[in-house]
Amino acid sequence: MKLLDGKVAIITGASRGIGKGIATLFAQQGAHVAFTYASSDEKARALEQELSAFGTKIKGFKSDAADFEAAQSLVDAVVAEFGTVDVLVNNAGITRDTLLMRMSEEQWDEVIRVNLKSVFNLSKAVIKPMMKAKSGSIINMSSVVGVKGNAGQANYAASKAGIIGFTKSMAAEMGSRNIRCNAIAPGFIETEMTGALAEDVVQKWRDTIPLKRGGSTEDVANVTLFLASDMSAYVTGQTLHVCGGMLM
Ligand code: NAP
Repeated sequence: MKLLDGKVAIITGASRGIGKGIATLFAQQGAHVAFTYASSDEKARALEQELSAFGTKIKGFKSDAADFEAAQSLVDAVVAEFGTVDVLVNNAGITRDTLLMRMSEEQWDEVIRVNLKSVFNLSKAVIKPMMKAKSGSIINMSSVVGVKGNAGQANYAASKAGIIGFTKSMAAEMGSRNIRCNAIAPGFIETEMTGALAEDVVQKWRDTIPLKRGGSTEDVANVTLFLASDMSAYVTGQTLHVCGGMLM
């Protein structure tokens, strides 16, 4: 028996990085996966093909998570094609790093829209099918930066801290409906988002981490699987840190 046998999962931002890792593990564990992306059409088609080998229904949707109407249309389309939504992973995210002195209003708004408003958009849209099913698990991708703050990332830190407050509130509101809501705070995970950094900078990061390595997309996917599955049936409103002990 696989951990997500027959479950329907929506994963935002899964054309690459952590989202792709989650989509892959979910499909391996028997889930039907509807994933989204912003612009990577080719990568999305390749992932659809790759994951179809696991034998469940897989479909990529080009859908801007920051757009309220688009999120509602996405969920409507998934319910029409897949029947329901059991799991939502709000993973899509961007950075527009710069010191506050130089940060433009556009850089602030863009990060808050894509990282935080998207969580509101998608979570609100799945409430109806999850209430109908009398169960659901929502997992929001925060960051250690949302807990600790980071120079040059005031917009990103605010969006990721906002996600934690949203998660606790949603858990409190929806618990009586058997809808769970948790957050994950990854530390330094080596993906395209971090691939832009110089190797010596990356090595310095690794040296400061108690487990002495950057995290992998699989490290985050494993914890996401736990929160998505019935293994975590009595866990809600929590933030799990996946950071190799970077933040204790
Ligand atoms: P990534 O490699 O840059 O991938 C981002 C994904 O989000 C892509 O699939 C991208 O689609 C999609 N996306 C971007 N804007 C979108 C939008 N408006 N609507 C829908 N999809 C959108 O990022 P990552 O490193 O895997 O990070 C994934 C999540 O983990 C983010 O929320 C990030 O903040 C968080 N996180 C990452 C780290 C880390 O060290 N990497 C640490 C802590 C938290 P396209 O390919 O089409 O652009």
